[in-house]
Amino acid sequence: MKKPINVTWTSMPSFQEYTKEIEELWDSRWLSNRGVKHIKLENLLIEFLGAPNIALFANGHLGLELAIEAFHLSGEVITTPFTHVSTTHSIIRNRLKPVFCDINPLDYTIDPDLIEEKITEQTTAIVATHVYGHLCDIQKIDKIAKKYNLRVIYDAAHAFGVELQGVNVARFGDASMFSLHATKVFNTIEGGIVAFQDEKICDNIQHIINFGFTSHETIDFVGTNARMNEFEAAMGICNLRHFNDEVAKRKRVYYRYVEQLENIEGIRVVLPKEDIKYNFSYLPVVFDKYKESRDQIIDKLKSDNIFARKYFYPLTSEATCYNGEFDSMLTPIAKDISVKILTLPLYSDLDLEDVERICKIIKE
Ligand SMILES: *Cc1c(COP(=O)(O)O)cnc(C)c1O
Repeated sequence: MKKPINVTWTSMPSFQEYTKEIEELWDSRWLSNRGVKHIKLENLLIEFLGAPNIALFANGHLGLELAIEAFHLSGEVITTPFTHVSTTHSIIRNRLKPVFCDINPLDYTIDPDLIEEKITEQTTAIVATHVYGHLCDIQKIDKIAKKYNLRVIYDAAHAFGVELQGVNVARFGDASMFSLHATKVFNTIEGGIVAFQDEKICDNIQHIINFGFTSHETIDFVGTNARMNEFEAAMGICNLRHFNDEVAKRKRVYYRYVEQLENIEGIRVVLPKEDIKYNFSYLPVVFDKYKESRDQIIDKLKSDNIFARKYFYPLTSEATCYNGEFDSMLTPIAKDISVKILTLPLYSDLDLEDVERICKIIKE
């Protein structure tokens, strides 16, 4: 039996590079609370993202939950069910009501033409996901948000490094969250970034991350603890050095898949749009009227020690914890895609021969 191939394989610097980066922590004993690594990573990311107002978090989810909180929203939030459950949880944990809008069948992001009909007197925001790093229709969403005075918060967990016409995705919406979890395209072991347009909101959240302390003796906010630690920041510093190389390697793997799977009746792969600099973060494939079902293919791959993932399945609106409160039949395209989609293994060191083997299994 060949060695297992998982859907992802975490990118790491060499052991030597990482230990060199963390060595000084043994002298300083400063392991958390905006230490030198945290500040260094923050500055590197401000430059990389071209976004001046960013905050680092212990993980992406806390970033999103606190970003939503920062806008003091009430009532209803228009969102997508075709996402990580983190997106929906972050709305509900803020005591807001998610109103699910269907997705477009081409890249699985929220369908902007269906948003307006969901807007009511209670609507205060749109929380949308750049699914697999493919961007939502930012311009249309922006226009709707301006017309109805809504906030726009992007779950950009998948979209680190993505640019639209040369502009980094961190520049769009009122806030964008990037997950830096070990399975993501750029990681700090666990971690997250939120980029805000508003400097004041970003300043406040920097304190909220640390219990609301604004000085040693002043606590101006009912904050929480969502701090990134120095070991995580050091991992980010190292991984950022290699980010462009990683993306280039992923790109080779990605297009090897595309070559093999394109033009096969019943198989659909989303290609990056022309005005996008893509990060090649995921390779989702939709099996629609293919000779075998998504679930048959996942089992076939598994029997060869290859572990693809049903990502995103189930829809977040179908999570058992929501007790059937939401009707997934109201978002029929999302429902349909969720039972047909499979995310195939994709990472920088994946052998091209393994890609061909995976595609062969799918085609046979
Ligand atoms: C990974 C992910 C999150 C959560 O990020 P964590 O860093 O794991 O907390 C949220 N949304 C989406 C779309 C994700 O893929």
